[in-house]
Amino acid sequence: MARYTDASCRLCRKEQTKLFLKGDRCYSPKCAMERRGTVPGQHGSRRTKFSEYGIQLREKQKARRMYGVLEKQFSNYFKIAEKQQGVTGENLLRILESRLDNVVYRLGFASSRKEARQLVLHGHFLVDGKKVNIPSFIVKEGTTINVKDGSRKSPKFKTLQENLSGKIIPKWLEADVEKMSGKVVMVPARDDIDIEIKDNLIVEYYSK
Ligand code: SF4
Repeated sequence: MARYTDASCRLCRKEQTKLFLKGDRCYSPKCAMERRGTVPGQHGSRRTKFSEYGIQLREKQKARRMYGVLEKQFSNYFKIAEKQQGVTGENLLRILESRLDNVVYRLGFASSRKEARQLVLHGHFLVDGKKVNIPSFIVKEGTTINVKDGSRKSPKFKTLQENLSGKIIPKWLEADVEKMSGKVVMVPARDDIDIEIKDNLIVEYYSK
């Protein structure tokens, strides 16, 4: 499947916000947004005034890039969100948060969503006891996620486990650091999703 493979930091500079695509580096002074922060390209330092459409587009791109989802899949998620009861923008964010790669990241079993995606693809996780290697797999309330026994002993997961103590886990998830396992205890409400995305602008973008 097609994937964006260019420099991740470029995306943050393009969106003029931190998308947290590179794990620990994002929280260090090495972060490109801290060091440079200008929009990529020859005229990057010029201020751009966006139209209403431009603002809505940028918000949609920001969310899409943050969760590492391609255009088509993102618009499919929007169609599903529209059909669900409740506020469409909130439904959309809830679907994005419920992706297995995001949940793995939120539980602290990967340092970024990008890494989580890779680890899921390589089959390191069991969902309700069964191997799942689909990053877009949607988890539900009550779903359990475990790092496979064999994988847990690997240096990669040992390091991740060591860094887990002190990590803040969202209240809709529960993590057992010792066992490297987690559970979805409830469906997240909008307030439980700590991302700076104005979901109403995404709804306006697709309503044109
Ligand atoms: Fe974005 Fe992280 Fe790169 Fe900073 S280090 S620009 S937050 S991807």
